[in-house]
Amino acid sequence: MGGKVLFDSGEHKVFLFEELTPASAVQANQFLIVHGEEAILLDPGGHKVQSKLFADISVLVPPKNIKYIFLSHQDPDIVASINYWLMTTEANAIISKLWTRFLPHFGLDSKLEGRVMSVDDGGTRIELGKGCELLIIPAHFMHSPGNFQVYDPCSKILFSGDLGASLGQDYSVVEDFDAHLRFMEGFHRRYMASGRVMKLWAKMVRGLDIEVIAPQHGAVFKGKEMVGRFIDWVESLECGVDLLSEKDYTLP
Ligand code: FE
Repeated sequence: MGGKVLFDSGEHKVFLFEELTPASAVQANQFLIVHGEEAILLDPGGHKVQSKLFADISVLVPPKNIKYIFLSHQDPDIVASINYWLMTTEANAIISKLWTRFLPHFGLDSKLEGRVMSVDDGGTRIELGKGCELLIIPAHFMHSPGNFQVYDPCSKILFSGDLGASLGQDYSVVEDFDAHLRFMEGFHRRYMASGRVMKLWAKMVRGLDIEVIAPQHGAVFKGKEMVGRFIDWVESLECGVDLLSEKDYTLP
């Protein structure tokens, strides 16, 4: 199996791992971005994935080249393996400042806590290899209150975390956007906090040159037209608190 190539310019490569999750767990994608001699692993996942992912990555780059482990938010399908990754690599973890003190509850050894970089709400930029600067952009309340996405200007891929997640389809690239909606709608209506944040996000990312949107679950959106359709959909979606009323808050 191993990683699937999403982008390859020689110096800059992006790999997707989509088949490592056990059947009973929600399917999760992991991504590796390599620029020159350095790599960043995005949303590594949980304990059931860690050793298979390590083996697959080892074929592609020496694990000591992994400089960063990016954690879009605090969920177990993203963070649960963090102790393993900090033990087996020399990487620093990157996560919202809202969640740094929750990592020890996932078993992060106290000796490793100094390798966690906490990100302020405005996001940040990090240099990978020599000459590729990644943007860590705000995606708060999509769905987590402290939530970031990664934009890679070298591949023009936006790694969107739970935004754009799809569940249950049998393909890994979206070909028909309208037919794909039924695999996304339920999740986004329930997990994304509100239409207000969806609109703010859409406005922000229209300032980026995006060729691919790659979510942490399910299929990826490829090409400017598909990316545009996705952003338009996000911008107009009613979700989260927009949909709640008194009937949702009655005593059981
Ligand atoms: Fe999540």
